[in-house]
Amino acid sequence: MSRSPLIVRTVPALRRALDSLRAKKATTALVPTMGALHDGHVSLVRLAKRRAAKLIVSIFVNPTQFAPSEDFSSYPRTWKADVAKLAAENVDLIWNPDVKTMYPDGFATRILTEGPATVGLEDRFRPHFFGGVTTVVGKLFTQCRPDFAIFGEKDFQQLRVVTRMGRDLDLGVKVIGSPTVRERDGLAMSSRNVYLSAEERRVAPALYRAMKETAKRLRAGDDIKAAMAGGAELITDAGFILDYFEARHADTLAPIGSTKEGPVRILVAAKLGKTRLIDNFGV
Ligand code: AMP
Repeated sequence: MSRSPLIVRTVPALRRALDSLRAKKATTALVPTMGALHDGHVSLVRLAKRRAAKLIVSIFVNPTQFAPSEDFSSYPRTWKADVAKLAAENVDLIWNPDVKTMYPDGFATRILTEGPATVGLEDRFRPHFFGGVTTVVGKLFTQCRPDFAIFGEKDFQQLRVVTRMGRDLDLGVKVIGSPTVRERDGLAMSSRNVYLSAEERRVAPALYRAMKETAKRLRAGDDIKAAMAGGAELITDAGFILDYFEARHADTLAPIGSTKEGPVRILVAAKLGKTRLIDNFGV
């Protein structure tokens, strides 16, 4: 049976709700989202449930992680359906602040991260992005003070960045990564997939196929440069404009010259028409 989560929109109401959630010293897990929930988000909630007694999901479309040219105002918003999905998962609390609550007039503080946030992947193409993510996630962590926070491997660099930030700032939150949920044809689920036309949706799984094929070549001992060039060609031949298609050290995200240098992750970002997709794959 599902029950309605408590919906909270102000910081004082959040404090009260958290006090009562934790009354019996219950552990809490936070799943930060921007709404437009799909089965990928639901998988994070299910992982959270295995870790903690009480579940908090935040829904906040964070303006500071969008550049002026990006899709903040058109980002899909599906509030009613989101609440129904979270109720079906027995989520205890939905933290849904508005922009003024998160960024009151005169807001003048940012969390700036280096290390995994400056390795030349997403940061190279979206220079505003991680400053916005770390600032909002830092706020969500201090507002909700969860024991655990669950992030998707889908946004692999983001997972590394928030893990680092949580450790560096002693935020007392254990960040846990959760595997990417895909459509049957391999396309990673994303709130932005609704932007794809029918033809683009048909082409989109080429990204996954290229990563899989490249991972296979790397595992078989092929030269990294040749394997990456082959994968990039599969992606551009399918009709994408590539931002990057790279093999990196899976922990540090540093460039690698050989698969012997450590666990390897293939990371990709590419545009199909107006829609920018990102994905990654373990070798
Ligand atoms: P978003 O609402 O897109 O900002 O994503 C919220 C969280 O869901 C982030 O931690 C994402 O990495 C995660 N997420 C998004 N898509 C997927 C997916 N297909 N599988 C697993 N996690 C995902």
